[in-house]
Amino acid sequence: MQTSDPALKPVELPETADFVRQVEMNRTLEGVYPLSKFTRLKELLLSDEGFISVKLEFGECVGFACLRAKISAKLQLECQRCLNPVATAVSGGFKFALVRNEEEYELLPEELEPYLLEGEEQSIIDLVEDELLLCLPMVISHDSDCSDFISRQQKEIEAEKAASHPFAALQALKDDFKVN
Ligand SMILES: [Zn+2]
Repeated sequence: MQTSDPALKPVELPETADFVRQVEMNRTLEGVYPLSKFTRLKELLLSDEGFISVKLEFGECVGFACLRAKISAKLQLECQRCLNPVATAVSGGFKFALVRNEEEYELLPEELEPYLLEGEEQSIIDLVEDELLLCLPMVISHDSDCSDFISRQQKEIEAEKAASHPFAALQALKDDFKVN
């Protein structure tokens, strides 16, 4: 049961599922995973606060069991130029045909990418993480250039200096009086 009411917390999805069973039930799973669950991705993040939004649709396509997915997230990555954080929106989608063995794989039309089913339950987390890593931009940097970010930092430093300036100015004035 999905709702678009922003006041309600998004549904956290299970980490694993029986994909075959999901296909039989024509299930659509929509929800989120906390970023902190993705150990490989986490190494690239400056903050693991936040979520990955995921929509998984299990069903059939041209007679094969399929999984279609859409993923999106906003990640705090490190700018490759200035090393400061840059909020990067990442999104992607994928479609897999679920196969149990090589014989089933051989039957797939070329345009369908195979996903080999192993065990009773499959890890959604691993699958989502693999795909999200593939969606990361080749170059991670601030949009135009980093000067916006740097000049904002400089302004803050100058503002701090300015805040302490009145006293410094007053002291200088006093010193002047002493000299004269
Ligand atoms: Zn930058």
